[in-house]
Amino acid sequence: MDRKLGPPFAPTRRRSAVTRGKWPRRVLIAVLAIAVTSGLGWAAFTLGARWMDPASFAGGSGSSIPGWSTGHTVGVQDGFVPDGEHISPRNTELPAIANLDPKLLRAVQEAADDAAEDGVDMFLTTGWRSKAYQQRLLDEAVVKYGSEREARRYVGTPEQSHHVTGEAVDIGPTDADSWLSRHGTDYGLCQTYGNEMWHFELATTPGGVCPEMLPDASDGRSAPTE
Ligand SMILES: [Zn+2]
Repeated sequence: MDRKLGPPFAPTRRRSAVTRGKWPRRVLIAVLAIAVTSGLGWAAFTLGARWMDPASFAGGSGSSIPGWSTGHTVGVQDGFVPDGEHISPRNTELPAIANLDPKLLRAVQEAADDAAEDGVDMFLTTGWRSKAYQQRLLDEAVVKYGSEREARRYVGTPEQSHHVTGEAVDIGPTDADSWLSRHGTDYGLCQTYGNEMWHFELATTPGGVCPEMLPDASDGRSAPTE
């Protein structure tokens, strides 16, 4: 009895006690790892989805930037789109899209549909902008380029910009710009500045001929419209 249930039994119990002590810790670590990983994944997903969902788009942190000279906080209501963000021309809940000239918007939507059939994703990086947003961009450009004269080669004033009147869109990514430079006239869409392959306006009739491009937005032949 003693030999069977005594010493041989005790080490077994001790081993299993050690094993029982370790497993919960391993399980705990595994559970924590899964929780942290899914937490990070969810955060990334939420950030990524923010610009696709107009509701959270409007309210999410980082959806606005403080104005400079105007003191007005530029947000989604101003047509603000952060650098690097792409929005669908079908996302008409966003002011950047909804406030475009309806004819221009329709032309861009049709072009985007046809580009998609060619395997090219076409998005807007900028659509309509409020005057406050335009002023903010001009302020930034003056800092970036060192003078208002140089800045206005790239960014028009709120009074001049065709983005403010809803008559211009900036298209991305680059392969969509290339697609539109080849096919844009089918929809009346033209690149209007030689130095901005992404900036398109409804500048001809469908199937027509685009006017000669201006070198940049400050060209003397017309007021800057970028
Ligand atoms: Zn533009």
